Amino acid sequence: RKARRRYRPSCPCRGALFAQVIVDIANSGVDRLFTYRAEDNIILGQRVLVPFGSGNKPIEGYVLGISESYEGNIALKSIIRPLEPYSVLTHEQIRLAYWIKQSYNCLLVDALRLMIPAQLRRGRVKEKRVRTVKLADGVDPQFIRAGMPKKDGSPKSPKQKEVFDLLSESNAEMSTADICAFIPGASSAIKALIDKGYITEAGRETYRDPYAGRIPPRTMPLTLSAAQADVLEKISAAMDRREGTMLLHGVTGSGKTEVYMQAIAKALDEGGSAIVLVPEISLTPQAMDRFRGRFGEQVAVLHSRLSPGERYDEWRRIRLGKAKVVLGARSAVFAPLENIRLIVVDEEHEQSYSSEMTPRYSAIEVAQKRCKLNGGVLLLGSATPSVTSYFRAKRGRYALLELPERINDLPLPKVDIVDMRQEFAAGNTGIFSGRLYHELKACLDRNEQAILFINRRGYSTFVSCRSCGYVFKCDNCDVSMTYHKIDKLMKCHYCGRTKNIPKVCPECGKPHIKFFGVGTQQVEEQLRDSFPGVKSLRMDMDTTQTRNAHYDILSRFSRGDAQVLIGTQMVAKGLDMPNVSLVGIVAADASLHIPDYRSCERAFQLFTQVAGRAGRANGNGRVVIQTYTPDHPAVVLASRHDYKGFYEYEIAQRRAALFPPYALFVRVLFIHEDQAPLCEAEERFALGLKDAILQALKAQGADERELLFMVWGEAPIKRIDGKYRRQIVLKLARTKHTPKAVDAIYSYSNAHRSDYFCSLELNPGDMF
Ligand code: ADP
Ligand code: ZN
Repeated sequence: RKARRRYRPSCPCRGALFAQVIVDIANSGVDRLFTYRAEDNIILGQRVLVPFGSGNKPIEGYVLGISESYEGNIALKSIIRPLEPYSVLTHEQIRLAYWIKQSYNCLLVDALRLMIPAQLRRGRVKEKRVRTVKLADGVDPQFIRAGMPKKDGSPKSPKQKEVFDLLSESNAEMSTADICAFIPGASSAIKALIDKGYITEAGRETYRDPYAGRIPPRTMPLTLSAAQADVLEKISAAMDRREGTMLLHGVTGSGKTEVYMQAIAKALDEGGSAIVLVPEISLTPQAMDRFRGRFGEQVAVLHSRLSPGERYDEWRRIRLGKAKVVLGARSAVFAPLENIRLIVVDEEHEQSYSSEMTPRYSAIEVAQKRCKLNGGVLLLGSATPSVTSYFRAKRGRYALLELPERINDLPLPKVDIVDMRQEFAAGNTGIFSGRLYHELKACLDRNEQAILFINRRGYSTFVSCRSCGYVFKCDNCDVSMTYHKIDKLMKCHYCGRTKNIPKVCPECGKPHIKFFGVGTQQVEEQLRDSFPGVKSLRMDMDTTQTRNAHYDILSRFSRGDAQVLIGTQMVAKGLDMPNVSLVGIVAADASLHIPDYRSCERAFQLFTQVAGRAGRANGNGRVVIQTYTPDHPAVVLASRHDYKGFYEYEIAQRRAALFPPYALFVRVLFIHEDQAPLCEAEERFALGLKDAILQALKAQGADERELLFMVWGEAPIKRIDGKYRRQIVLKLARTKHTPKAVDAIYSYSNAHRSDYFCSLELNPGDMF
């Protein structure tokens, strides 16, 4: 077998090999290599069972090194046995694991666990084997049938004849279960036929089918537009050079996916493999069908809605070289492919590419490392690239590729902004503005479909005035303050400062302060009141609990079972529904005032993505954005589909306020049940850390003020699960001195780990 690489020593004494094994125990005390005696068929990357500790308890481990000699003088234990006949880790994955340990400051075993399905460890899932039989090779059915009857013409065994006939008619392998379903009580007949040598056991293993039997029709590569062809050519050239990171900025519906697929085809033609990462929520059945339609069985999917068994089967198909294209969410970046020529990260701006669990890796950074190790190309794609990625592209760190037009010159949808303050002043206290009501009615009358979007994140958290749109912000940090129901006050999630909520607005003096937004259910009720009889579907956290709920809701909507789809983020991404001509962003402000320096960027991205769902078939799409802050740049620029204008605006803001990419945030979180020692440990850590950073800056001759600020105290959410939470937040200006300062932060943290220390993050996704 190809995957099985043997290491035969030149030494004539068989079995004299030594394996360096890490045991599968997440404990810093044992997070290193232990040497064992091994048989000569041991493979690098194989999982093995080894005796461990003074009791020699059998523990699972990974072979990370093999050597022919051993220098130590301790008597060595021997490996008990390998767990699989093949290696579960490729050589490249082992190097990657060391890099992850280094880059994300985690245990090596935690890094390795990212690459192995949890189900494989501790033998939780078994391969699914089905017993099958087929006609024995070289048997002539006529001849055998002739030999079967008794002299008087009656069959010797009617059952055996029946089974034999069934098999020769089907002319294929059949599972014994299927045969018994056709012919009750056939098992003894099957056995007799096997004994006579007429049929043989095939007994292949089958893979569980995560596609539920759906086989999409095969598609052929489309003839590319001139712009697409140009982009593909540049990607191909980079693939030939075997290096590069490229950012593809293409508006919604510009044909990015087609470009991805043709680049993947090149990778396959040249004997390589490819990974396509998509955000979990946009991994719709529609997306899977597009890739399976083009590449068939060569596609494997990896996402969180697979059952453990399915996940394991898909992983094994990849590891054994049966699948060469992996489509999946964040964790699919670890897929055990060999010779990776291309990694595509679609919707690269999405937050979901950063893991919130230890190790807190960024799938994009991991993808970049894997491309380096394999000689592959990293292709980041988005209609709204993250400000940081675009910044890098402008600075020449990434190659910038562009698809500025929709396919077939379809126009982008026309966007109206509705000022909800005016609606309020005019006495409309409902959820729908006059404009949105009017457009909805027209859309429904034309028998077309509409999507109503509500951002769940930020829902009911920020505090604002309904009358003038004023939003309360922190005086320190210039981010929106968050309403805390329990304390009945506002709080800044960056610095912890609190404020009481005044009765009247400080801006206009009116008593219309509110802190509750709109939810999907309220929109559903309002729709029912305003348009009795119109069918709607709701897609949010509540309605998508079951495994196939997404698929069911989307397929019902695309079948036309309902005219209106009401939903959260889940409806924003990747849907290609030709009959949707109207998109309503019901409450844009919830997106604008999330307490985060990236809220403006995220809001712009979200509005652009949601708007991109409208008018994909004929270009007659319309979008209505309802907001209390109609002049907000994210709203205005999204309504004009002006990414570049937005980027220029936002990067200037970041530069002025010294936010990333011009600065770096670092957050260290501490968690413990006992408050007093926690406070003390945090304070001690903070003072030491500050010293270490300042020293690292001084040693390079840098100004100490490059440490822009450093605060420590309670985390915004003080307690979770009875455990107290405290955090250190610091900001460093990005200069040539930053890498050494970061090194100092890491080495200080490594040297001062304790029971209180929880995590260390650079530019964390949020700071709750
Ligand atoms: P994006 O990924 O940029 O949103 P898609 O790849 O989904 O865009 O393309 C939008 C639509 O245009 C899809 O229906 C796709 O099949 C179609 N399309 C893409 N490229 C071509 C092409 N070269 N010729 C014709 N249709 C195309
Ligand atoms: Zn603040």
